Amino acid sequence: MILTVTLNTALDITYRVRALRPHTSHRVTEVTERPGGKGLNVARVLAALGHEVTATGFAGGATGRSLRDQLARTPGVVDALVPVEGATRRTVAVVDGTTGDTTQLNEPGPVIAPAEWSAFLDAYEDLVASAAAVALCGSLPPGVPVGAYAQLVRTARAVGAPVLLDTSGEPLRRGVAARPDIVKPNADELAELTGSHDPSVATRDARRRGAHTVVASLGAQGLLAVNAEGRWRAVPPRRIQGNPTGAGDSAAAGLLAGLVEHLPWPQRLARAAALSAATVLAPVAGEFDRRTYEELLDQVAVTGEATAA
Ligand code: ATP
Ligand code: MG
Ligand code: MG
Repeated sequence: MILTVTLNTALDITYRVRALRPHTSHRVTEVTERPGGKGLNVARVLAALGHEVTATGFAGGATGRSLRDQLARTPGVVDALVPVEGATRRTVAVVDGTTGDTTQLNEPGPVIAPAEWSAFLDAYEDLVASAAAVALCGSLPPGVPVGAYAQLVRTARAVGAPVLLDTSGEPLRRGVAARPDIVKPNADELAELTGSHDPSVATRDARRRGAHTVVASLGAQGLLAVNAEGRWRAVPPRRIQGNPTGAGDSAAAGLLAGLVEHLPWPQRLARAAALSAATVLAPVAGEFDRRTYEELLDQVAVTGEATAA
C-alpha cells in the first residue's frame, strides 16, 4: 500500500452562492463537505487510479468524526488517522456562481499535544514498515515540531520506503536535509527554499540540499524534474482555465503511482501533468474525470535527457 500522511487534516466545506457581495446576506445554492488536507487529496487520487492507500494523520471532535465517516465511504482508502482531543479544523470555500471566484476561510485547527504527537510516531513506525511508498504532504498543525517531516523522512528511509515530501517553509527546508527521494515544491516554495526564481538554478540547489529528485511544479508551464539520472520537462497541452486548487496534490499522486509501478521518469511526469491538468479542468476542486485524464495523457509533451553514465 501507499501511505499518505496529512498532519493538518481538514473538513473542507464548499458553499456555492449566486453572486458574493460583502455586507449582504446570501442564500446558499449548494453545500458540499469532504475530507481535506493535502495528503488526503493525494490519497483520493491514488485510490481513483486503483492503488491501495492507507491514510494517516490526525482527526478529532465532531468534525473529525464527519471526516472519518466520509473516508470510510471512499473505496480504496484505509483510515489510519490517529485520534486527538481537539476538533479537526474546517475550511470554508465560498464560490461565487457568476464569476467562479472562490473566497477561502481556513480555521487554524487544534494544537497537537506532545502525547498525541508521540502516539502518531508509534503508529507511523508500524505503518511505514508495510508501505511501498510514503507521501508527506501539507503544513504542520500547531504543536507539532518544525522538524517533524525530517524525522518522518528518516524513519521511512530507515525501513527502505521511498518518500515524497510536499510542504513549504522551514518544515520543507529541514525535510529536504533528511534526504527524501522526491520533493515536489511549486515555484514559490522552491524560490523560498533556494532564494532563486530560476527553476534550473533552484532545482540544482534543492538537490544539493539533500533531495534525490526535485520535481518543481510550475503551474500552467508544467513540471521540471531533475535527479542524478537526468532532467525532464513535462508540458501540458495548453494553459487550462479552471480551478488549480489541488493540482499540485494530483501531480504528487501521479508521481507516486509512477514510482510504485516502476515507470521511467518521462512516464511518471506525463502522468503527473495529465492528472493535474484534469484536476484544473474538473468543476470540483481536487477531483478529476478519468476520461479527461486519459485524453490529456496522450497530449502531454515530455522532453529531456538521461545523464550519460
Ligand atoms: P496545490 O494547490 O495543489 O498545492 P501547487 O501550487 O503545488 O498546487 P501548481 O504548480 O500550481 O502546484 O500545479 C501543479 C501542476 O498542475 C503543474 O505542474 C501543472 O502540470 C498543472 N497545472 C496547474 N495549473 C495549470 C493550468 N492552468 N493549465 C494546465 N496545467 C496546469
Ligand atoms: Mg499553485
Ligand atoms: Mg502544492
